[in-house]
Amino acid sequence: MPIRTITKLGAPILRAVAETTDPRRYGTAELTTLLRDMVETMIDAEGIGIAAPQVGVDAQVAIINHRDEPFAIINPTITKRSLRTELAEEGCLSVPGVFGTVRRSLKVSVRFTDESGTEQTVQASGLLARVFQHEIDHLNGVLFVDRVQRFTRGARP
Ligand code: ZN
Repeated sequence: MPIRTITKLGAPILRAVAETTDPRRYGTAELTTLLRDMVETMIDAEGIGIAAPQVGVDAQVAIINHRDEPFAIINPTITKRSLRTELAEEGCLSVPGVFGTVRRSLKVSVRFTDESGTEQTVQASGLLARVFQHEIDHLNGVLFVDRVQRFTRGARP
């Protein structure tokens, strides 16, 4: 099982803006392997999403685990976000044992390229919208602890 090591809070790669993925990489063994390993690593760690910097890779790539059907998002951008927000508890594989409430837009539109290189736009709400926002934050060097209103479990980092 190609499970990769998850980078933890304090690792500089978690604080960098990730590199845009070149369209020429779509369909290559390198990208396919990265995506497969990210899915395995996320499932092993019981996460609902994972971003490439969390496995030490500087790339605008993340996996979203929606209803146990993981899919890849490459070079994602949030094109629309609702003014309505929701406060809910979050955690992060890179900040183990720490949880806190984060305010996120209730709905977002996300444009990204899928693993075959096709451009997609997805409208999401609720938990899925939250996972998109959390993972896209990772690709911009932002961690949920930066946005926490109140820590609920674990030691405040
Ligand atoms: Zn995270």
